[in-house]
Amino acid sequence: MTAKIIDGKAIAAQIREEAKNEVEALKDRGVTPCLAAVLVGDVAASKVYVKNKRQACEKVGITSVLRALAADVSEPELLKLIDELNNDPAVHGILVQLPLPKHIDETKVIEAIDPSKDVDGFHPFNVGRLVIGLDTFRSCTPAGVQQLLLRSGIEVAGKHVVIIGRSNIVGKPLANIVVQKQKGANATVTICHSRTKNLNEICRQADILISALGQPAFVKPDMVKPGAVVIDVGINRIDCPSSDKGYKLVGDVDFEPVSKVASAITPVPGGVGPMTVAMLMVNTVKAARMALDRAS
Ligand code: NAD
Repeated sequence: MTAKIIDGKAIAAQIREEAKNEVEALKDRGVTPCLAAVLVGDVAASKVYVKNKRQACEKVGITSVLRALAADVSEPELLKLIDELNNDPAVHGILVQLPLPKHIDETKVIEAIDPSKDVDGFHPFNVGRLVIGLDTFRSCTPAGVQQLLLRSGIEVAGKHVVIIGRSNIVGKPLANIVVQKQKGANATVTICHSRTKNLNEICRQADILISALGQPAFVKPDMVKPGAVVIDVGINRIDCPSSDKGYKLVGDVDFEPVSKVASAITPVPGGVGPMTVAMLMVNTVKAARMALDRAS
């Protein structure tokens, strides 16, 4: 068996196109969606992520504002900036690029963001709404995984979805998305983590196996049931002397051998990654639409 490759780039482009049409419609109503990105310090990966997100905004017609702060900015100063953005009616979405420097309490910062501008979906208010099945901002990577499945025609209802990883940004929200009594969900869900016993055995029971742990080539073919769908959320940097940069990006899945067992699989890069940015555009448009509806 050779797995069908799920093309995250193409699906993300389709979603961005839909977001672009919605932006046009909002502009006709007199509002241009605006995303404020807060970048603290000089971490290379964070700078790249923020740059990609801002470029995506530009392509779909969302205004993007960058607020870059020095690595030694104090927590009160950062909270003051968040407060300013919360109170700026021209700003619809606030994105604080994580991780933050160690002296800043990330939870405090996330909780300071107005939930109606929390386009990353990390605020406990939005997480709570997600858990009880209410409309909310869903965190971008898990929401992107669901869209990949939906738009690839992969049925989730009644399937056993096994997720490796229980982080607040991927594993836990993803489990809460696919377990809902909603379209594109209704799955039976197992969350695995670093203390899980018999991981291989549990993974082999998955109809849909989703890996989000951050270890290259961790998922081997003997962990995959023949014909299962494999979604690789991991992004890992490994040395690659033959590339210009000296490194390359790989997922958590040992791609070649696993694609001989799975029925469908996402590549890295070009799978889940582009979906995260596309869903951020969707959430920003939604924030602008909600602000407009509240005002009218
Ligand atoms: P994290 O480090 O916060 O969480 C990793 C999780 O994996 C933990 O819950 C841990 O319990 C679990 N884990 C670790 N070792 C394990 C093992 N041996 N067996 C079972 N479980 C184990 O990571 P995260 O922020 O959730 O990110 C996970 C991966 O996804 C990373 O590679 C990250 O770069 C990537 N990521 C990608 C995107 C994207 O847009 N594609 C977005 C976010 C994160």
